[in-house]
Amino acid sequence: MIQSFHMEKVVSLNDSLENIFRLTPGQKRALNKLRLHTVDDLLHHFPARYTDAARTITIGSLKKGDQAAVYGKIHNLKTKKAWRKKIPMAEGTISDETGNIKAVWFHQPYIAKMTSEGGLVRVEGKVGERKGELFLSNPRIERITEVPRDTGPLFGDGTSETLYPVYPESRGITSNWFYHAIVKMERSGILDTVEDPIPDEILKKYNLPTLKTALIWIHTPQKQSHADSARKRFAFEEVFFIQLTRLRERNEYARNPSFKIDIDRDLVNEFLGRFPFTMTDAQDRATEQIFLDFKKEHPMSRLLEGDVGSGKTAVAAATSYAVITGNTSNTKVNRLQVAIMAPTEILAEQHFENFIKYFSYANIPVALITGSGCKKFPSKLYADRMRTERGLNAEKIMPWTNISRPQLLKWVASGEIPILVGTHALIQKAVKFQNLAYVIIDEQHRFGVQQRAKLVACGSAQMETAQMDTDKNNLSSDLLYKDLTYAIRNVIFTVHNELGPGHKEYVYQRAIEEELRKRSLLFEREKKIDVFYNKKKIGVYQPDFIIGRKVILEIKALAYIGPKEKKQLWSYIKGSDYKVALLANLGTERVQMERIVHDTARLARTTSALNPRISAKVRAPHFLSMTATPIPRTLALTVYGDLDLTLLDEMPPGRKNVITEVVARGEEDRVYKKIREEVTAGRQAYIICPRINEPDPEKELALNTKSVKEEAMRLDRDVFPDFTIAVLHGKMKSTERDGVMKEFERGEIQVLVATSVIEVGVNVPNATIIVIEGAERFGLAQLHQLRGRVLRSTKQAYCFLFTSTEPKEMLPRLKALTTAKNGFELAEMDLTLRGGGELSGGRQWGISDVGMEAIKNLKMVEAAREEAQKMLADDPELSTFPVIKERVGKEKHNIHFE
Ligand code: ADP
Ligand code: MG
Repeated sequence: MIQSFHMEKVVSLNDSLENIFRLTPGQKRALNKLRLHTVDDLLHHFPARYTDAARTITIGSLKKGDQAAVYGKIHNLKTKKAWRKKIPMAEGTISDETGNIKAVWFHQPYIAKMTSEGGLVRVEGKVGERKGELFLSNPRIERITEVPRDTGPLFGDGTSETLYPVYPESRGITSNWFYHAIVKMERSGILDTVEDPIPDEILKKYNLPTLKTALIWIHTPQKQSHADSARKRFAFEEVFFIQLTRLRERNEYARNPSFKIDIDRDLVNEFLGRFPFTMTDAQDRATEQIFLDFKKEHPMSRLLEGDVGSGKTAVAAATSYAVITGNTSNTKVNRLQVAIMAPTEILAEQHFENFIKYFSYANIPVALITGSGCKKFPSKLYADRMRTERGLNAEKIMPWTNISRPQLLKWVASGEIPILVGTHALIQKAVKFQNLAYVIIDEQHRFGVQQRAKLVACGSAQMETAQMDTDKNNLSSDLLYKDLTYAIRNVIFTVHNELGPGHKEYVYQRAIEEELRKRSLLFEREKKIDVFYNKKKIGVYQPDFIIGRKVILEIKALAYIGPKEKKQLWSYIKGSDYKVALLANLGTERVQMERIVHDTARLARTTSALNPRISAKVRAPHFLSMTATPIPRTLALTVYGDLDLTLLDEMPPGRKNVITEVVARGEEDRVYKKIREEVTAGRQAYIICPRINEPDPEKELALNTKSVKEEAMRLDRDVFPDFTIAVLHGKMKSTERDGVMKEFERGEIQVLVATSVIEVGVNVPNATIIVIEGAERFGLAQLHQLRGRVLRSTKQAYCFLFTSTEPKEMLPRLKALTTAKNGFELAEMDLTLRGGGELSGGRQWGISDVGMEAIKNLKMVEAAREEAQKMLADDPELSTFPVIKERVGKEKHNIHFE
C-alpha cells in the first residue's frame, strides 16, 4: 500500500518532514538516522542507483551468470554450515509465480534470523549453478512491503521503461516511501521555490540542468540520460562549492604578509651532507620548491604527499633547518621558529625522536608538547657531555629530559626553543611563540580544519597579544571570541570523537568538563544568568557552561537540533550580557554545532585581532601539510584545493618488497603457521579486520566481515593461546589506543588485531606480517597503506589478503598492488576499477556519493575549479552572489575531516 500523506498546507523547503508526512516511529528513527529533517533534506537525498524495471526478471527466466534483481516471497530460511568447510551460512528459497530459486549467504547466518519466513523481498545478485541447480550467491536482500510498479510480467506487462530509484538503504524506511514522498513533493509545486545557487552562465556553459530540472531528473527520471545529467549537475555543484570554500580560505591566508626567509645555503648543504643517505630526486625537488616559497613575501600553503617511507620527514627536517638558520629580510626579527603538529601522541613522539636524530649534532633544541607532558632535547647532561667530550659516550646518556609545561612555554615564548613538536596541545592559547615562521602538519585530514587554522593563527596571534600585553593571569579570558570558539569547537569534536553519538547529555557534559580542564580553559558551571527584556528582569537562565567568562556553551544529545533550540538560546543571550553562544549537539553521528551571535558580538568578531586576515604588522607562518594517504589527483585538487601540491613519488633505493598474496578460504592455517614461525623468531604481526563488533543482525544486512573483537577472541582461544593478543580500533579512547600501540612498539604484544586505524600510526620495524581480513572491502590505496605498516622492517615482510568472496575476484586488483609504483598510482586505479561511489571513504573527506562521481572526472573537477577561481577573482568577497556567499560560509564549518 502507498502511504497516505496529508498535505493541506503549503509546503516550504524548511518544513520538518514530521509535520508533513504521517510517519511511523520506525520511519522517524530512520529519517533521523539519515539526517533527513526538512523537505530540503529530502529533496537532496538522492537515489544510490536506479533499477531498470525491464531488467527485473521473473525467477523462471533466470539463467546462469545473470546479474539480476527478483521480487518474491522467501521461504525455508535456515542456518547451517557450508559444504566442505565449516563456514556458517544462511539459505532460503525465493519464489514468484514463475518459479523458485535458492539463495545462500556465506558467513551471514543472521540473515536467516532477520528475515521473516514468507516475507516479501527484493533480492539482487549473481546467478550461479551447482549440480545443475541455479542459486543466488550472497545476494543483496531487502525486505519490502510492496512490489514496485511495473515489475516484469508477473506484476505488470513488463514493457515499461520507467526507472525505479533505489535509495541508500536504511532500516525502517523503504525506497518506495522515498519515491512516493518525493513525487508528492514534486506535485506540491515546491520545486518552483528552489533557488539555483549556480549562475546561469555556468549551467549553460557546461550544459547542466537547472536545480529544479535536476531535482526532478534525479528522483524520477524518464530515461537514464536524464538521471545521468542530473547527477552530473549535483556532482559539479558539490565540487564547485568545496573549491570555492577552499580557494577563498587560501586567498584570505595568502593575503597575509609572511616571513621572507634568506636561506644560508652553506649551512643547509652541510646539514644535508650529514644525512646517512643522499636525498632522492623527488626529495630534492620538494625541498627546492619549498625554499622558493620561503623567499616570497606571502606565506606558503603546500601539501607534501608521499607514501610511508618516501622520506617526507627528511624534507621536513631539511626545510626546518633552513628556517631556523635563515634570516628574514623583510622583518628585523631573527631566531625563527618551527612548529610540527601530529595527530596522535605516538606520532608526535616519533617526530620528536626523528628530529633529535637530525638535529643533535648541532645541539639544536627540540621540544615536545603533548597532553601527557613536555620533553626537551638536549638534556643538560647530554649537552655538557657533547661540549666537553665532543660527543664521546654521549649516546649512552638520555638525550632528552622531561620538563615542566610552564618551563617549556617560557622557552618557546622567548625563542630559545626553535623547534616545537606536538599534538593538538600545540595550539593551546598558552603556547606563545616568539617568531613562528613555519608550521608543518602531519596527516592534516586527521585534524579538523579549524585546528589547522588555529595553529596557523597561533604564532602571529601571539605576537599581537604579546605586544598588547594583556591580562596574563587569565589564560582564556583574554582570548578573543573567534579564538575561544575555535578552542571550544575543538573540545567538542575531541569529546565526540572519543565517545561517539548516543550517550546521555550528562555523559557529554562530564567529558567536556574534563577536556576543558585538560586544556586549561577557564569555565564555570551551574552559574545563573539574569535575563532582561526591556530593562526588566524576566528570568534566570542556567547554561551548561560559560567559558572564558565570555562564551555560553549549551550541550544537547538529541537526534537533531532545529530552529526551536536556536531561537531559545538566542533569546537568552539577547537578554543577557553575553554575546556569543555555541549550541552543540553531540547526539548525532556528526556533531551539529550552531554559533549563535548577538548582533553586537558580531562586531566584536570582525574586529578581532585573531581573525586569520591578520593586521598588517603580524606575519603568518609558512605552512606545509604532509600526508601519506594516497588519494587521486582529482580528490586532492578538491579537498586540498587550498594547497599547492608536491608529490614524493619516488622511494629511496634499496627498499624490500612486501611479499603479497591472496589466500583462499580454507588455507588460513598455512598463514597462521607462518605467523607462528615469525612470532617465535621474535617478530610481530598485525591482523586487520574491517569491523569492530560482532555483526549486529539487526543492523548488518550486507556486511559479511569479521570483527576485531570477535576475531581477537577466536585467535586467542583457538589459534594462538600462547601469544599475547590485543585489539585496537577507532572507538577506543585515544589514550587507550596510544597505550596499546606503545605496548606493541615495546614488543609486549605479539599479535595486534586492529581495524584500519593503524593505517596512520607508528612504525614498528619488528612487525613483519600483516593479515587483512575481508580484503575485498578495502580500496587498493588503502590496502597499500596498510601493507606499508610492515615496510619498515629490515627483514622480509609479508602481507596476506583473506577474502570473503572468491579469491580470483581479487586477482586483477592484486596484480595492481604488486605492479603499481606508488600509492597515488593505486589511488587512480582504485578510482577506475571501483568507481566513485565505492571509492573508499568519500565520506571521510566530507564528500557525498554523488560528489564522488565528479572526483572520477578530472575534466569536471578542473572546470569546477576554474569557475570557482574566476568567480573569486572577479569578486573576492562574493558580494554579488549572496546565495553562494551564505553557502560558502556554512560549508566552512561543515567540512570536517575525520
Ligand atoms: P616518511 O616520513 O615519508 O614516512 P621518512 O622521512 O621517515 O619517511 O623516511 C623513512 C626512512 O627512510 C627513514 O629511516 C629515513 O632515514 C630513510 N630515508 C629517507 N630518505 C632517504 C633517502 N633518500 N635514501 C635512503 N633512506 C632514506
Ligand atoms: Mg612519517
